[in-house]
Amino acid sequence: MRRTLRLLREVWMRVGLEKLESHEGVAVKALLDSGATGLFMDTTFAREKGFRIERMKKPLIVKNVDGTVNVGEAIMHQVECNMFFKGHVERVRIDVCNLGKTEVILGMPWLAAHNPEIDWEKGEVKMMRCPPICGKRKQEEKKREVKKVERGEDKEVLKKLVPKRFWR
Ligand SMILES: [Zn+2]
Repeated sequence: MRRTLRLLREVWMRVGLEKLESHEGVAVKALLDSGATGLFMDTTFAREKGFRIERMKKPLIVKNVDGTVNVGEAIMHQVECNMFFKGHVERVRIDVCNLGKTEVILGMPWLAAHNPEIDWEKGEVKMMRCPPICGKRKQEEKKREVKKVERGEDKEVLKKLVPKRFWR
């Protein structure tokens, strides 16, 4: 009897990252990797896309998947941004290091916190089990903004929410 294995070994997600200063959105191909110990962004990618790279107070020692220390690189820099994916919104700090051709890696701590439903056959990711606070705060802010606008309190907020062609 023969069995066919069609399962993907890797699952990729298209996520949006929003820069905090300019609110510019960048589409990113992120690899889900349960062997990675954090969130990582490739140095070259971060520079090319113009993310603001901050220096950390303490360098981070990176361990490889098998637990050995990666002596080649201590992580010194981070990028802070908002991450969007299918209704999921969160503020993230991503460690910056050399990932080669991979743009971003979402590792085990992220997978454990958001516990996404992964279809390994289709390579689909669904955010069905996000913690209650995930994305909620942003939505509540939006609601508050809308309420403000309804009461006519803040024209600047209205401008942000309503497309320009509807302005009077
Ligand atoms: Zn989430």
